[in-house]
Amino acid sequence: MTDCIFCKIAAGEVPATLLYDDGEVLAFPDINPEAPIHLLIIPRKHISTVNDLAEADAALIGRMYLAAKQLAAERGVAESGYRIVTNCNRDAGQLVFHLHLHLLAGRELGWPPG
Ligand code: AMP
Ligand code: ZN
Repeated sequence: MTDCIFCKIAAGEVPATLLYDDGEVLAFPDINPEAPIHLLIIPRKHISTVNDLAEADAALIGRMYLAAKQLAAERGVAESGYRIVTNCNRDAGQLVFHLHLHLLAGRELGWPPG
């Protein structure tokens, strides 16, 4: 995808601090953090939304969650807790149409979300 900001980050064309990269999945800090820890975990492959997932992506989604688990443990919030969020389309407020997990931690997170 030529006009996708997260594809550009994956290609190294837009700068981001890579915190994790296993070749298929990468993670970097959210540019506008909503919590003391706010990371984004993305597949290198362009997938616009959860609606666009295919059976063949099942292992890739698993890798994204395993990356989230590792990143949370490295940051010492595995036990205190964290939230993994994926927004899909307008009502959820999706802004970037390249699939991503938000990993939020470091404060008490309200429930339900707004
Ligand atoms: P969403 O509403 O789930 O699509 O969230 C997209 C997230 O991407 C927002 O939290 C933005 O702050 C974040 N974001 C957008 N551009 C960048 C960027 N270049 N680097 C890091 N995070 C970004
Ligand atoms: Zn993309």
